[in-house]
Amino acid sequence: MQSLKPLRLKKIGVLNLQGAVSEHITMLLSIENVIAVTVKKPDHLAGLDGLIIPGGESTAISRLIKQNGLFGPIKEFARQGKGILGTCAGLVLCGMTTTHHEVELLELMDITVERNGFGRQVASFETFLDIASIGKHIPAIFIRAPYIIHAGNPVKQLAFIDDHCVMAEQDNILVCSFHPELSNDNRVMKYFVDKC
Ligand code: GLN
Repeated sequence: MQSLKPLRLKKIGVLNLQGAVSEHITMLLSIENVIAVTVKKPDHLAGLDGLIIPGGESTAISRLIKQNGLFGPIKEFARQGKGILGTCAGLVLCGMTTTHHEVELLELMDITVERNGFGRQVASFETFLDIASIGKHIPAIFIRAPYIIHAGNPVKQLAFIDDHCVMAEQDNILVCSFHPELSNDNRVMKYFVDKC
């Protein structure tokens, strides 16, 4: 008789400093083995399996990460191999360098990022992506989105629009230029939870 493997409960935090938080929580709660919490302070990271750095304004989020004493703790969290998902501004913050130097980055992934690469608000758009490791026809909503202009060897590039990389992973770190939480398709979120 085949024994069923019990689902391990995963506790995922969403950084709640600025930007889209409730949509991430709602999407996380659509996955059966997930507990979702918000993170504002370093001690909120204790016991988490993963952390989402949401979209918003990367300049504002970076400043608030510093003000709340979260810079070192998030870097340490990533170093321990815990999952990190950076969406849009969160992707910018996970990078090593951006084309705009006023943003202090977490430097979690070996990528160089073009902030607002697709333009400003008018350049917001929705499309569908086929992502080999996740699935086909995945809705992707872009809002003043960045893209990756250079990725180092340890980085696996997962999706492109024209020649621009819009999704990538490096071990436990996953980033995307778009907002998976604004669609009603939770496949990207499930992929992230599985990594945590
Ligand atoms: N353009 C924003 C930034 O670079 C990101 C926009 C978003 O997260 N939707 O901070």
